[in-house]
Amino acid sequence: MRAFLAVFGLSLAASASRAQNSPIRPPDSTAITIHAAHMFDGRGVKEDVLVTVRAGRIERVDTNVGPRGGSATRDLGAATLLPGLIDAHVHPGWYINRRGALHGRDDDTPAQSALARAGNLYATLMAGFTTIQSLGGPEDLDLRDAVARWQIPGPRILTSIIQISDSALSADSLRSIVRALKVRGADVIKLFASAGLGAGGQQTFSNAKLEAICGEAKAQGLRSVVHAISAASVRAATLAGCTEIEHGTFATKSELALMASHGTIFDPQVCLVFQNYIDHRDVYSRSGFTPQSFDALANAIPVATAMFKQAIATAGLKVIFGTDAVALAHGRNADELFCRVRAGQRPLDALASATSAAAAALGLGDRLGQIAAGYDADLIAVRGDPTRDIAAIRNVVFVMRGGVAFAVP
Ligand SMILES: [Zn+2]
Repeated sequence: MRAFLAVFGLSLAASASRAQNSPIRPPDSTAITIHAAHMFDGRGVKEDVLVTVRAGRIERVDTNVGPRGGSATRDLGAATLLPGLIDAHVHPGWYINRRGALHGRDDDTPAQSALARAGNLYATLMAGFTTIQSLGGPEDLDLRDAVARWQIPGPRILTSIIQISDSALSADSLRSIVRALKVRGADVIKLFASAGLGAGGQQTFSNAKLEAICGEAKAQGLRSVVHAISAASVRAATLAGCTEIEHGTFATKSELALMASHGTIFDPQVCLVFQNYIDHRDVYSRSGFTPQSFDALANAIPVATAMFKQAIATAGLKVIFGTDAVALAHGRNADELFCRVRAGQRPLDALASATSAAAAALGLGDRLGQIAAGYDADLIAVRGDPTRDIAAIRNVVFVMRGGVAFAVP
């Protein structure tokens, strides 16, 4: 009896300490069943579904369940169930400081910065995004860990920690930066192959240095994601064997075809990253943006939209979803999906780009981006049917990450 009590006492203490270690209750082995009238499973549409979740994973998926749906732990009624959305390009570290301007170095206390960033993660999660790739800031490591330890609500984070942009460095120095980032725990390498949009987007790193960075990343088992605005920089990054190209604003038919033939993943943006600055002109004017900056952003929207139309018409090109969300765009990520559909993408293709295709691009295609047995229980539901009307993607009514449901305000 004493032995029994000792064992019993010990297990109680162990479970109590687990609960105390994380304010958000982690998933356990209790089965949760979720019923919804419609489902986009990451690839296609199914009806009248019952998804069983246990210990953070999807255990099984039944379709056309009929009256069995009524006994679900959570009945989402007429809503559409989807895999948690994935944004392959965000900056959760960017926020507006207490003076109403884009934060800079040292203008807030570390706690103020951390809280603002936790707020960005919360807004992103509540918008239905359960995984983000941050490209990237040093604060990401702590944010990634806090989310993974169920300390704060947020999407799963993959991070590049820094952005490699100093084209004066030697190829050897660049290779050693990549190796050091691997040691620090980077999930991905981010580099700038070109200047920014306002500066014309001309190529910065030489072809040889691009090969050094992307080649070393590959040797370290890391993907390389490249900021490239001009056509020449897109071409150079593709030929250097980099994994993924961001923006590609001035890419032409020939660079798009080149990316397709090299299997290079493409993450273009058509509106949110431009529109967000324009919508918050006051804040960004206080943050160093000039009238010329806003003109360049406004002018970029039709250019990026025309390029995007050509990208989705390019045979074999893997187009994924990423917003480049910065301060005040966190939580608005789905606006970019809306713009992509308005630019001519089919809603199903837009949704796949932000689920199954993005997961595959992040090297997590066997765990994320689909609603299927064995996948992580990252599930969202929206009112209406976004496979018919993409605007429904903004009406998030349910969010679950890793088997934990978060209250939607
Ligand atoms: Zn960015």
